[in-house]
Amino acid sequence: MPANILLVEDEPAIQELIAFNLQQAGHHVLRADSAEAGMSVVRNALPDLILLDWMLPGMSGIEFAKKIRSDERTRQVPVIMLTARSEETDKINGLETGADDYITKPFSPRELQARIKAVLRRRAPQMTDDLVEVKGLSLDPATHRVNGNGQPIDLGPTEFRLLHFFMTHPERVHSRAQLLDHVWGDHVFVEERTVDVHIRRLRSALEATRHDALIQTVRGTGYRLSAL
Ligand code: CA
Repeated sequence: MPANILLVEDEPAIQELIAFNLQQAGHHVLRADSAEAGMSVVRNALPDLILLDWMLPGMSGIEFAKKIRSDERTRQVPVIMLTARSEETDKINGLETGADDYITKPFSPRELQARIKAVLRRRAPQMTDDLVEVKGLSLDPATHRVNGNGQPIDLGPTEFRLLHFFMTHPERVHSRAQLLDHVWGDHVFVEERTVDVHIRRLRSALEATRHDALIQTVRGTGYRLSAL
């Protein structure tokens, strides 16, 4: 699935090369040539992942990563640090600041793709194309198909994303605000009761194969998908 990736890199040639590779892989790239510029991108809308150069003019990549990790709103955004070979010893520090991974320059487009995919799979599994299955209900992000016990289930785009998010985060309770953030997108101003409307539609689509029972209401808190 294409991700919105913020690339913070001050060297124009490297920025261009990485952005080109990411776009080739189907991602949408937001560019910044300093941590300060990266901050303002993040303030405007949360990216799905940040590729962050270590050595930047002004605020360093490390400081930027620390800020991302210490803010409630941005804490969950995966960060991959880009380092030069001479900075290898600093990597440990990078991981301590909360970066999810690091990649040493120069790297191949394939290596970059593999790292991005691995980090998204770990931190944001709803962003990947992996088929998910819970109790006979399967969802394939690559083909956009949902099946209940082998029968095709027709879902609207929002219900599809909602179900995908639930299936990749089973057994956890999500508040309406969290669902809005993850499924509708950050900074999208929709009322919380919109979530209830789409939950109702999702359940009714899942009724035919009785998978509606997987979507549970947790009183006073929100919703969860539970196979227990
Ligand atoms: Ca640099």
